[in-house]
Amino acid sequence: MIAEILCVGTELLMGQVLNTNAQYIARRLCALGVRVLYQSVVGDNEKRLEEAYREALSRSDLVITSGGLGPTVDDITKKVAARVAGKELVVREEAAQMVKERFGQYHRKMTENNVSQAMFTEDTQILFNPNGTAPGAIVPLLDGKFIVHLPGPPIELEPMFRDQVEPWIMARTGMVLCSRYIRIFGMGESEVDMRLQDLETGENPTLSPYCSLGEVMLRATASARTEEEALSLLGPLIEEIRRRLGDVIYAVDSDDQGSLARAAVSAMRDRGLTVACAESLTGGRIASTIVDIPGASEVLRGGFVTYQTQTKTQLLGVPEQLIDECTVVSPEVACAMAKGAREKLGTDLAVSATGIAGPDGGTPECPVGTVYLGIASRNGVRAHRLQLSGSRDRIRTLTVKHALHILRKEAETAPAMT
Ligand code: AMP
Ligand code: MG
Repeated sequence: MIAEILCVGTELLMGQVLNTNAQYIARRLCALGVRVLYQSVVGDNEKRLEEAYREALSRSDLVITSGGLGPTVDDITKKVAARVAGKELVVREEAAQMVKERFGQYHRKMTENNVSQAMFTEDTQILFNPNGTAPGAIVPLLDGKFIVHLPGPPIELEPMFRDQVEPWIMARTGMVLCSRYIRIFGMGESEVDMRLQDLETGENPTLSPYCSLGEVMLRATASARTEEEALSLLGPLIEEIRRRLGDVIYAVDSDDQGSLARAAVSAMRDRGLTVACAESLTGGRIASTIVDIPGASEVLRGGFVTYQTQTKTQLLGVPEQLIDECTVVSPEVACAMAKGAREKLGTDLAVSATGIAGPDGGTPECPVGTVYLGIASRNGVRAHRLQLSGSRDRIRTLTVKHALHILRKEAETAPAMT
């Protein structure tokens, strides 16, 4: 397959905007094994754009455009392509829906000319734009060639190309893309980035980080003729990442559905371990997050929501005197809660959480965000102190994540009860 990149916009010709889209697309095509023999830039001028299309199509199988998908009169990329294809632009309902949804989401009023963003030829495959209003397109031509339209802003173009155009190209060229998802807990994104910077500039495989609360996920993707070949390209990269990051990596998955809960459930299930939860500030969320994972019934026997102090005594047998002496947010009480839950339900493991989620209730010795997790197994019971910050929800969410993390590590080291 021979591809050609055609960037549309007078601002590019005049040097006001650097043509980073051409560079991005060219690098990606190169990594996918598609040959790029020409790149061109043309202003927002119908006659010259038409000439550029005709010339590009005379020598390439695929012409990828960037820019000119907006609603204004100078946005002519689709219109001229349709003329070259010998077809009419019509309002496509699915595209109109997408444009409308974006406007709703941005709380912007749709004007009449915005309808043009939903106009494509009948046989065009429309590309979803999660980051802007203009959908992209794959336009088939009579001779088996294609024009692909992408929006100008790089933050719209890049994800659209990566997530929708790349898989389409792979399917046509018979190449396969393989991804591995490396999940990290307990190391911040900037630290991860510092350690992996040089690996993130590779072209095949590529490596891109995604961050969420307390976690970093890396997606490593390789393209090759066969899945086997792609996997063999990923192997050394993943090994190198493991060497640099160590045990903060809690899973390397073949899909992006992985989570701390899934890793904890599989670690327990693989070893035939059962678990109980004793929760104060998380109010059942640790148990509930475990239940989100299919197969949780094999490991989770049950849980106790012991929110008020006296409930910890009533349900888990935490001695009142211990609470009086040590306070309810203490390593001693976290241990007693875990021990109590493990004994009551007869499980291999138990995890507990007691802490101050805020916004009120902090003291100088025990500020908001102080949390103790208890973990009980046949090896005994111990507590971990966390010092978290942020909103009540953030503190509770992070507590759940830490609890699942500790549970997985414990499962991987604790032998099963016989
Ligand atoms: P357009 O889709 O033509 O309205 O372009 C919208 C904006 O995207 C322009 O104002 C530029 O800032 C940016 N843009 C367009 N084409 C490119 C390009 N080839 N490389 C980088 N940025 C671009
Ligand atoms: Mg433009």
